[in-house]
Amino acid sequence: MKSASQIMRELVAVQSDTGTTLEVNVAAKILELIKEDEYFRANPDLCGAYQDDDALGRPVVWALKRGSSARTLIISGHYDCVETQCYGPLQEYALNPDSLKNLMKENSTTDEQLRRDLEDDNWVFGRGTADMKGGLAAALFALRSWPGGEVNVLFTAVSDEENLSAGARQAVGLYADLKNRFGLDYRLCVICESCRRNPEKDDPFPFASGGPGKILPIVLVKGELAHSCDVLGGLNSALIMAEVIKNVELSPDFLSVDGDVSTQPPATQLARDLKEHYDVSLPQYSAAAFNMTFLTSTDPMDLISRLRKVCVRSIETVIARYNQVFDTMKNRGLLSREKKAWTVPPTMTLEELRSSVLQKKAAFKEFEEHLRRRTAQRLSAGQTLQEASVAYLKEIVEFADITPPAVVIGVAPPYYGAVSNDRLGWDSAQFLSSIQPNLQRLHGIRMVEASYATAMTDMSYMSCVDPQSAQQVMNNMALPSGIYDIDFAGIAEMNIPTLLIGPAGRDIHQAAERVYLPDVERNVPEILLEIMKTL
Ligand SMILES: [Zn+2]
Repeated sequence: MKSASQIMRELVAVQSDTGTTLEVNVAAKILELIKEDEYFRANPDLCGAYQDDDALGRPVVWALKRGSSARTLIISGHYDCVETQCYGPLQEYALNPDSLKNLMKENSTTDEQLRRDLEDDNWVFGRGTADMKGGLAAALFALRSWPGGEVNVLFTAVSDEENLSAGARQAVGLYADLKNRFGLDYRLCVICESCRRNPEKDDPFPFASGGPGKILPIVLVKGELAHSCDVLGGLNSALIMAEVIKNVELSPDFLSVDGDVSTQPPATQLARDLKEHYDVSLPQYSAAAFNMTFLTSTDPMDLISRLRKVCVRSIETVIARYNQVFDTMKNRGLLSREKKAWTVPPTMTLEELRSSVLQKKAAFKEFEEHLRRRTAQRLSAGQTLQEASVAYLKEIVEFADITPPAVVIGVAPPYYGAVSNDRLGWDSAQFLSSIQPNLQRLHGIRMVEASYATAMTDMSYMSCVDPQSAQQVMNNMALPSGIYDIDFAGIAEMNIPTLLIGPAGRDIHQAAERVYLPDVERNVPEILLEIMKTL
């Protein structure tokens, strides 16, 4: 039988840059590897490439080894990788682990760890080795090695994890289909993403049983237009935006804390005025988007409420500054114009704005249809989903014709819910006691639980304990429906406890990306096989 190392090399050799049609090639390769297995040659209807509505035609590849019970284990991973440009002159070797490692040895490096790993046969270099074709290979190898038993083993491989997780969202439909078709009872999902364990120090295997969520709110500011030489005749949207940024970036008010785990404070992801050409006017519109992460202890809509308060405070600060400067200049006789009386508006969410416009303007429905077409055009012309979201929000605010100063808060993709197996009533102590003794005795493998993964993963689309709140976030998505949808009702119906267990990896997304071979070849498959035996 093909080794996991061989499978990994075959997967790495097929370039699969995220968010491109190249991903389709590696999906085909995975299906080919599945069909090499005798079981799937005999049961061709138990594997396939599931297609829903992916614009790039990227399928969810799946394969099911049936058991004698309904209990089902899903083992899963993503098949896309980040780009290879960062390899510079070695780019053409990025998918060829052996040549790459030899060439890298010739370059000098100040990174001690990297130097040691280049001399160590246990580390395999190349794009996708750690993130995550090594993990996928381990899962495929475990599937092929599994002789069958009580449990059903469902292998899935998805696209686009490094981009917008379109694959994991598409897989929701597949899981529902297979559940109905084969009467599957999904008990656990293991995603074989790499981990940061130090195998040299004999660190135990971490298994993450939860993952942080992420929301990307957009603040759209409408100021009052004026000639820039008559700056007190208007109110600059760029100044309000700057004030909002100053109050949000690095603010501890947005931290989410669960036990001894905390998120990092927010960061500005995008900040710009929305003038398309230069002229001597104050920018009427400006927009900023913020990266905010959260744990299951925080309702994402609560972050939006906190953002609202910051926006109100920011407008107040800008108006106070305007008034102060105006009064000072007026008192010195330096102004002939009248003072503008600004009022602090209540900030609105996109959902609130939409429903108020819908009541006032009958033409809104028709306008939204035009907007849907324009958004699709913008996207096909190469705008990012985030840029298209800003444009969408601006057009709605323009149509609503609200009095400045005004702030409207929407949300741009991607959105990841925070998940935790604890919230699903999953018993990690019992899980550990069922697999640990054999793993320790037979293979010297120790496992240790981490309550949250360090970054967002596809795990976010395996369960949802508060679909109403998630739906409220989606109601504020600044895009027409059909462009970025997440079936939270469907996800909440599955609510599959999910773990991240994968090989040790280092420097993922960088040119020194590497994976620990003994984990790919032996340790991760042994862990998966032990779970299959005991689930
Ligand atoms: Zn990954």
